[in-house]
Amino acid sequence: QKAEWQQLKDARSVSKDGKQVILGANIGTPKDVTGAVDNGAEAVGLFRSEFLYMDASELPTEEEQFKAYKEAVEGMDGKQVVVRTMDIGGDKDLPYLPLPEEENPFLGYRAIRISLDRQDIFRTQLRALLRASHYGRLAIMFPMIATVKEFKDAKAIFEEEKAKLVKEGIPVSDDIEVGMMMEIPAAAMIADKLAKYADFFSIGTNDLIQYSMAADRGNERVSYLYQPYNPSILRLIKNIIDASHKEGKWTGMCGEMAGDQVAVPLLLGLGLDEFSMSATSILKTRSLLKKLDSVKMQELAQKAVEDCETTEEVEALVAEYTK
Ligand code: PEP
Ligand code: MG
Repeated sequence: QKAEWQQLKDARSVSKDGKQVILGANIGTPKDVTGAVDNGAEAVGLFRSEFLYMDASELPTEEEQFKAYKEAVEGMDGKQVVVRTMDIGGDKDLPYLPLPEEENPFLGYRAIRISLDRQDIFRTQLRALLRASHYGRLAIMFPMIATVKEFKDAKAIFEEEKAKLVKEGIPVSDDIEVGMMMEIPAAAMIADKLAKYADFFSIGTNDLIQYSMAADRGNERVSYLYQPYNPSILRLIKNIIDASHKEGKWTGMCGEMAGDQVAVPLLLGLGLDEFSMSATSILKTRSLLKKLDSVKMQELAQKAVEDCETTEEVEALVAEYTK
């Protein structure tokens, strides 16, 4: 089996009937790029930039960040690297950036909410990203977007920093895609509106499931509610993907669900364009895709979304369709 997977390292990611998708890797530092490439990643679908901040004793400078992003895009050699702007807060904090004590950190001051408030930090990160964009295929996405206004505000700051750099004569790429994480149910419900502004969506199921089920993703007592195949979650995912396609945009997924072998047939059927996962799951997933018929998976997904009532029913349906 391992040998079969190895042969797929340089292969495209296609279903049995020839539907092509992209299989990417999630990374935390530029050092992870080697592992991504070795495991056949066609992209980096999520670079969790907060690790640059967490592995430091003070805010990383523009220069330090520039070097890290440049190393990542160069390492991927022309393949797309989606860098997510800092997602601090929730369960991740910084010793040198004291955040307020909050009753509900997962519902509080986190991610883009901090970036829009602390524009000094945000602008430094955007400048570093813009400068690195010249050295490869870099895309940017904002975490925890809940409203159209948040996306527009973040994008406007990006445009301001871009214009400044251009004026300074510093080379920046002219086609940086700017997208957003889809991980808040309110955003998923207005995906059609957001798709007019965002170049792409990346579904963060770890948070999307937590917020949809109102169940803390780290709390063992309520972990039974972490149900990626629940029809409620599948409906949100379908809404997001369909909305992006209507606007000619694409949707990826970078939550754990993207590499889940029961979820993959459903996601293929729902029309997901990019699956981003831990590097070690890529070849296994490429091998699975080869065995799936995309038209049949569309039928599976439609039944799961329209007819099923429970996670268990969906799992049984997947088993039947992939036998
Ligand atoms: C997610 O929420 O699914 C996601 C990929 O982001 P993180 O796990 O870093 O919150
Ligand atoms: Mg998240």
